This record gives sequence, C-alpha cells and structure tokens, in this order.
Amino acid sequence: MNTKHIMKEYDYLKPSGLDEALQILSEKEKVKIYAGGTDLIVKLKMETVPDMDYMMDINGIEELKQVEYTDEGVRIGANRKLWDIETDQRMTSLFPALTDAVKAMAAISVRNLASIGGNFCNASPVADAVGPVMCYGGTLEIASARGVRKVPAKDFFLAPGVTVLEKDEMLTGIFIPTPKGDVGHAFTKMARTKSDIAKLSLCVALARDGGRIGHIAMSMGAVAARPLFLEEISAGLAGKEMSESLAMETGEAVSGFLQPIDDNRTTAVYRKDVTKTMVADALALAWARSGGA
Ligand SMILES: Cc1cc2nc3c(=O)[nH]c(=O)nc-3n(C[C@H](O)[C@H](O)[C@H](O)COP(=O)(O)OP(=O)(O)OC[C@H]3O[C@@H](n4cnc5c(N)ncnc54)[C@H](O)[C@@H]3O)c2cc1C
Repeated sequence: MNTKHIMKEYDYLKPSGLDEALQILSEKEKVKIYAGGTDLIVKLKMETVPDMDYMMDINGIEELKQVEYTDEGVRIGANRKLWDIETDQRMTSLFPALTDAVKAMAAISVRNLASIGGNFCNASPVADAVGPVMCYGGTLEIASARGVRKVPAKDFFLAPGVTVLEKDEMLTGIFIPTPKGDVGHAFTKMARTKSDIAKLSLCVALARDGGRIGHIAMSMGAVAARPLFLEEISAGLAGKEMSESLAMETGEAVSGFLQPIDDNRTTAVYRKDVTKTMVADALALAWARSGGA
C-alpha cells in the first residue's frame, strides 16, 4: 500500500486563513480537505475517494490547531494533532478517557500527523476519539461561508463515512464541557495489537451521587454502522445504587442490545460476548475513579 502511487489528478490548494478556506468550499466543487492525510491518503491509494478535483490542505490555518481552556470547558481546534492532545497534561486531568483513547490509536508517527477533526470527519464506526467526546457531552462547531452551527457529537454521524457536514461546510472545533462533581471515566479497547484498529472499544463517563450513579454516558465503537452512543441504557442507570451485580447486569443489557457484524477483525459472536465483561469492568473502573467504594 505504501508504495502504491496515487493515480488521480487533482489541484492542490493551501489557504492560510479560515475565511479563505470557507470561500474555496463555497465556490468550488469536489473539494476534499486534507488535515493529516492518514485516512485520506490511504483511501486515495485504494481508489475509494470517488469525487475529488481539489485537495485543500488546512495545515496553514493556525486557528484550527489551537486549544483554549475556560471555566466552562475546552475548545479543541479541528486540526489539533493527536500527539498534542495526548501530551497535554490539563487535557489528561480533565478528560482522561479522551487522552487514553488517543494514546490507543496507531503509532506515534501517525498521531503526529493525524488530527482529532479527521478522526470525526472520516466517520468510521471504529474512530477511537469519538466515544469519549460523545460521553463528555461534546459539541462540534461546523462552519461555512453561510455561518457557524453547533451539533452535538452524538448526532454528527449518519452512516459509515457519512456525516451531517454539507458540501460547503467544515469542522472547525470541538467543545467539551468541564465535568462537574465526583466524576470517573474509562476508555477500553480490544485490538489485535495495541496500535491496531479496534475490534471493540468502550467509553464510560459517570458522575457519582454518594453510593448511587448520578449521571452516566456510555458509547461503543466497532459494533454498529456508526459510533454508538448508548443513550437509553445509560439513562436507565441514573439514580441506581452501584454494585457488582448492577455492573454485570449492565454488561448483559448492552450485549443484548448490540447487533454487530462479522468483519475481517473479528466476529459478531466475539463482540457480543466480550462486551459483557468489558462493560462491567469499565463501569467498575469509572466508579472507583470517581471515588466510589
Ligand atoms: C497505520 C494507521 C493506523 C491507524 N489506527 C487508528 C486507530 O487505532 N484508531 C482510529 O480511530 N484511527 C486510526 N487510524 C485512522 C486515522 O489515523 C485517524 O482517523 C485520524 O484521526 C485521521 O485524521 P487526519 O487528520 O489524518 O484525517 P485526514 O486523513 O486528513 O482526513 C480524514 C477525512 O476527514 C476529512 N476532514 C479532515 N479534517 C476535516 C475538517 N476539519 N472538516 C471537514 N472534513 C475534514 C477529510 O477530507 C477526509 O475525508 C489509523 C490510520 C493509519 C494510517
């Protein structure tokens, strides 16, 4: 794959500001955004990018690489590199499930190029950074020459490779609110080797209310056509007293809910079976991290 040439001809554009990039998107047809290229270049080599007359490199736009903290939360520029996210101590202390997910992706050489926005916009059901952002209640900032709109991360994905982005829009930032109270988070991933694509991934973010679960959000990767936000099962846990049996029952419930497929990484049976213990363990871990007994 690495030695394969890209046979497609296209024009290369490199705007130096966001306004210029949005103008290009509104005026030209068949523009593909290049952030780190770690998904896009692979797809071009595999000839699975049907429509591209222009490649727009967004690495000249400084504001897309910035991170900004306030009391309310953090805004991460869409083209912030994964390496800058995982080595950010403040990010790790506020959002450990996100930095754990990023560290579980690929090799450092890939994470130096790859952006968090690219992980979202590639819209793979296995995208590792997505689950934590959904569980933390993250919002995506989407811009076009027409203006800016905000979309909850959990509502961004429509199908494999398809998001709510319109032709003239791009992802500019990701806002994640600061978790409040006694919180505990866990990200776990099952893969053939550490840096491989997930057979299964899971994120749990909870807030403890004494011996009970206050708020909880869970998500899974590699089990559905989109990154899966387990909204109803999570809502059903709020207010319940935490116990080992609740953790195991939740594992059974999530497993029963899933309708995964067989693919070249693993089988549906494996996914459903392993989910049971994965969920129970991650729930117990997040609970312990929240200070719960
Ligand atoms: C060897 C290898 C291992 C990998 N392992 C993992 C892994 O373990 N887990 C995992 O989740 N992923 C993995 N990946 C996939 C990839 O590295 C990530 O998805 C990465 O975050 C993509 O970011 P990028 O900046 O390289 O995206 P790009 O390749 O530049 O872009 C990806 C897609 O998003 C679009 N896009 C990019 N930025 C924007 C934007 N701001 N607005 C609108 N559209 C945009 C592009 O047009 C393209 O369609 C791996 C890739 C490789 C090559």
